[in-house]
Amino acid sequence: MPNHADRLTPERLRRAGEVFTAAVARAWWMAHAGHAPGAALQALHERHAAVLGEEALAVALELFRADDGDVARRQRARALLEWQVESRAARAVAALDEREIAWSRTAVVTLPWGERLPYEQAPIAIANAGDRGRRLAIDEARAALVARELAPLRRERFARERDAVEGLGLAGGYVETFAEVSGIDIRALAADAAAFLRDTEALWHELFAEFVVRGGGIAAGEATRADALYLLRGHAFDAHFPAGHLEPEILRQVREMGLDPLAGGRIRLDTADRPGKRARAFCAPVQVPDEVHLVLRPQGGAADWRTFLHELGHALHFAHMTPGTPFEDRWLGDHSITEGLAMLFDHRLHDRGWLARYAGLPRRVVAAWRRAAAFEELQFLRRYCAKLAYELVLYGGGASWDDLPGAYADTLGAATRFRYQPADALVDVDPRFYGARYLRAWQLQAALGTTLTERFDEDWWRNPASGPWLAAEVLAHGQREPGHDLAQRVTGQALSFAPLVRALEAMVA
Ligand SMILES: [Zn+2]
Repeated sequence: MPNHADRLTPERLRRAGEVFTAAVARAWWMAHAGHAPGAALQALHERHAAVLGEEALAVALELFRADDGDVARRQRARALLEWQVESRAARAVAALDEREIAWSRTAVVTLPWGERLPYEQAPIAIANAGDRGRRLAIDEARAALVARELAPLRRERFARERDAVEGLGLAGGYVETFAEVSGIDIRALAADAAAFLRDTEALWHELFAEFVVRGGGIAAGEATRADALYLLRGHAFDAHFPAGHLEPEILRQVREMGLDPLAGGRIRLDTADRPGKRARAFCAPVQVPDEVHLVLRPQGGAADWRTFLHELGHALHFAHMTPGTPFEDRWLGDHSITEGLAMLFDHRLHDRGWLARYAGLPRRVVAAWRRAAAFEELQFLRRYCAKLAYELVLYGGGASWDDLPGAYADTLGAATRFRYQPADALVDVDPRFYGARYLRAWQLQAALGTTLTERFDEDWWRNPASGPWLAAEVLAHGQREPGHDLAQRVTGQALSFAPLVRALEAMVA
């Protein structure tokens, strides 16, 4: 037992929590930017064990249960408890996650003709296989390997995570516990998602016929997820998004909206090449708001532009949070918000005027690009809506897990019209409903986009008043309130799919 002087008070938990979280973030950044060979997270967890111990959970629970009617205090207590619950769930499956990483690094897919392919390269090989027979064969062999070796491991992982969360006894079951500690009404979101699937069914049929049946030459009943990976790889427009223009043009856009893209030096842009550096862009907040790393290695192509815009949205968010506010507001809370801001920026690639001004896309290309982007956007949205419905089956406790492969393939297949492999039922899952945050982020970016257009016109992204407004109303607040409260405060609207439906319809008009 710790003596009285060492007792963990809420204030000490916050301070220690920030030190620990920042240390993990720094280790992660060093490893992925190529500054260190690995992240040594195990050692960090051992050194800061008290931050995620029994006493820490007790402190968070006590704060959460002491409801004095103060909304801000209640929200911070919720964020602190959610962080404790998520960290415990992550720790309960850490050994299995490590085993999975080790497995995926060495697993090999053997094709019927004897060719051997590293498991991790299978999705890339599928996306690049113009020969349909080849991509289906790779996917069949991959799925057979997953069913044999990875699926049992994942099943154990999800069972352990469920037991760790339900074992806390916070609410009736896994779904209820998530709703309680996140403040997100997950079942209401699933009902909205089901309505969105119905509302966009006709549009999806139209785009599917255009891009899969006519464009891809694949009969409607036969298209598979492997075909989707191939059709969505989207190299067709890459020449219009050159690597050399990416950084200067996107930074120019942020300056034109009245924001310093590097936030007075708090955002450190790293474009240097070095061994061990990740190929794709990422954002690593190491001190919030004072040290945010935006790491990229431009190679060209539309995907690079999208990733950079997305990560820059995250970076601007972290770098503009009000200094000195509690740990919970800056590091914890509802990640629908930071993902929503990232999407607000990456969705500029759907914007006619933006594409013409910064990417220099010719008018005739803009229309074709927007249609292709609508196909991609609606595919992803419908996939995430279906994933949420399926994850409620997985976590809901009402179904036998032996039935999950069938439920997964049926649910995802019905929503997307691509056939899914039952073997992926426990592989294609973002744990702890992270996919629900993405759906809310999609809604939030659409609502913010509508409000910005109302206030600053449709080219708000070059209006020097829009950036300062966004910084004061949204960025500065960090994640001190859940995404639905932020939407209500800033846009006057509840989060919903309605503005997304309108945007999709405009893209294909
Ligand atoms: Zn993101």
